Amino acid sequence: MESQMSDLAFQKCINTACGASYGIEEVHHRCPACGELLDVAYEWDRLEVPGALSYFESKWERRAEPLCFSGVWRFGELLPFALPETRVTIGEGQTLLRRCRPAAEFTGMKPERLFLEYEGMNPSGSFKDNGMAGAFTHAKMVGAAVAACASTGNTSASMAAFASATGALTPVIFVGGGKIALGKLSQALDFGGRTFEIKGDFDDAMARVQEVSVERGIYLMNSLNPFRLEGQKCIMYRILEGLRWQVPDWIIVPGGNLGNSSSFGKAFMELVELGLIDRAPRICIVNAAGADTLDRIVNDEKLAWNGSQYDRERVKSFYEQMDAEGRSAHTLASAIEINRPVNLSKALRAIDVTDGKVLKVTDEEILDAKAVIARGGLGCEPASAATVAGLKKLVESQTVSPDDLVACVLTGHQLKDPNATVGYHSGKGPDREKLAKYGVEKTWYANAPVPVENSLEAILEALEKMEG
Ligand SMILES: *Cc1c(COP(=O)(O)O)cnc(C)c1O
Ligand SMILES: [Zn+2]
Repeated sequence: MESQMSDLAFQKCINTACGASYGIEEVHHRCPACGELLDVAYEWDRLEVPGALSYFESKWERRAEPLCFSGVWRFGELLPFALPETRVTIGEGQTLLRRCRPAAEFTGMKPERLFLEYEGMNPSGSFKDNGMAGAFTHAKMVGAAVAACASTGNTSASMAAFASATGALTPVIFVGGGKIALGKLSQALDFGGRTFEIKGDFDDAMARVQEVSVERGIYLMNSLNPFRLEGQKCIMYRILEGLRWQVPDWIIVPGGNLGNSSSFGKAFMELVELGLIDRAPRICIVNAAGADTLDRIVNDEKLAWNGSQYDRERVKSFYEQMDAEGRSAHTLASAIEINRPVNLSKALRAIDVTDGKVLKVTDEEILDAKAVIARGGLGCEPASAATVAGLKKLVESQTVSPDDLVACVLTGHQLKDPNATVGYHSGKGPDREKLAKYGVEKTWYANAPVPVENSLEAILEALEKMEG
């Protein structure tokens, strides 16, 4: 193994009743002893940890060094599982934290209290690049040659981008047939990912990729991989940085496979443990109404983390019932079109340690919020807009006050899914027809292109109509 971090970092089962730990150089998808998920854990006492978060500002003047430029490895002291020479970066994490007046008006927030963390600026256009920096580093430590993932699109785009940029691994991709937004598929193909369209949905692809990885010893790049989640912690560090180290009251994140929300929870647990912040923000995870497993498990079934002894039998029977009903995920927000989130248990932990919340929003609400966000000059894909749609509900129910300091994570770029955007503005998206039947108004900012004759006169006439 290349790294000598092996005695300072290790893998640890999140089930405290099991408590098994494994070396950093081992590759597991789950705890071999009990089947629960694994964390990357650290001997913080024996590591050099900065005394204050403002320490990281010292990296800004060293931006010419790739590991200081990286929005992940800039915070390397907080994910110290690999030596600097082993760390992989393709320039991820150069993101923006910005205000958005239309989103503030839409949600009822004070404009100066609402921030959007724009992860669409990553090299492959989604937050997944943060995680891939971590996972590719671990893959390098263990000498992996082939990497695989199941994906609703962005994981595959990111994995293929890292594979082609580093030349380190052959990327193998499994997607649900017809389920992937074209922007994302085009990236996977262009970056050279070997792409298999499974006749099934994401949940099927996720199940198969785990079997294939075990069978062939292929390195798994999904968010089951705890090293990926280490990279994603840095999204939270950058929000704190953007707020000049003020801790927000709320972080709002879309929930799909629940890797992001899990890693955010871990980031804050650690920062509190290290004394770098004095309280964690509350995390709100937003499901799409058509893929609402977490919402149902937390809000209807009242399942809670319970110190890692959450009701595992109940979860099992929940999924059995879902199978019996033939229930599958359906939402226009394809990045969160997932009914069997692999990180469910870690998300329950994140909700517990941050006094978090879960809610769901309809596709209609998501698309309206997306259009509103874009009116503030930030383009995101549908799943990302679930955050702002969710915040609107949190303010309406007075869970969030207009004075609270809130950051919504815009997880992916607008151009990932242009069909959804053009469909919305043309008023002919698939869900719209259905909604029209229920008499739902065309809403916020529908902005269809206007057909016009090829003549100056006709154009001038059309312009006048527009102004009127
Ligand atoms: C992957 C993804 C999500 C879902 O994140 P999870 O970590 O799977 O919950 C949301 N939005 C976008 C754009 C994504 O790519
Ligand atoms: Zn275990």
